[in-house]
Amino acid sequence: MSRSIKHVCKLCRRENLKLFLKGDRCFTDKCSFERRPYPPGQHGQSRMKFSEYALQLREKQKVKRLYGIFEKQFRRYFKESEQQKGVTGTTLLLKLERRLDNVVFLLGYAASRNEAKQLVKHSHVMVNGRKANMPSYEVKKGDVIEIHEKSRGTKVQAAIESAKRREASRWLEAQYGDFKGMVKDLPARDDVTTPIEEHMVVEYYSR
Ligand code: SF4
Repeated sequence: MSRSIKHVCKLCRRENLKLFLKGDRCFTDKCSFERRPYPPGQHGQSRMKFSEYALQLREKQKVKRLYGIFEKQFRRYFKESEQQKGVTGTTLLLKLERRLDNVVFLLGYAASRNEAKQLVKHSHVMVNGRKANMPSYEVKKGDVIEIHEKSRGTKVQAAIESAKRREASRWLEAQYGDFKGMVKDLPARDDVTTPIEEHMVVEYYSR
C-alpha cells in the first residue's frame, strides 16, 4: 500500500512537530509548520484541553508518522518490544531507529524517510554488498550500507548536499565519496533527537 505525501505537512501541524516528511522544503521558510504552527482545520487555533487518552494517542501517532509506519506494523513493533528485555518504550524507539530506511535517511542518501523507503524498496540500496529491499531490515553494528552504482543520480547527490549541512548521527558514518555508510555502533536513546515521550505510547497500548 502506498502513502500519499500530498498533504503530509498537515501531519506535522497535527502533531505540533516538524516530522521532516518533504525533504529540502522542510529546511526552508516554505515549511507549512513554520508558517502555520497550529493544527489544521476550523478549530486549529482554538485552545483545546486534551484528555490523557488523547495525549497518548497523539504521541503514538507522532512516532508512527515520523517513521512512516502503518498501525498494524507499529503494533507488531510494540509487541516485539514488550517481549524483549529492557524498557519497552526505549526498545520500541531504538528498533524503529535501526530500520534500514531510517538509516539511509540519517546517512543523507535520501531527503526524507519516505524517499529513503522508496530507494530501499526499489533495490537501490545494498547491505554488506547484497541487495536489500526491505525497509524494515534492522541494521546491525558493522553493517555497510551502499547506494547501488546505477542509482547514484542527481536526486541522491542533492540529498547528500543537503545532509552535509545537517548534524551527523553519532552511531553512523557516511562515506559520501563511495556512496557508503557504516553502522559504527547501535543507537542509544540519546541518539533519537526528535522530542518523543515513548512512555505515553506504551501507556496507550497498555490500556
Ligand atoms: Fe513538515 Fe516538512 Fe511540511 Fe514542514 S515542510 S510541515 S517539516 S513536511
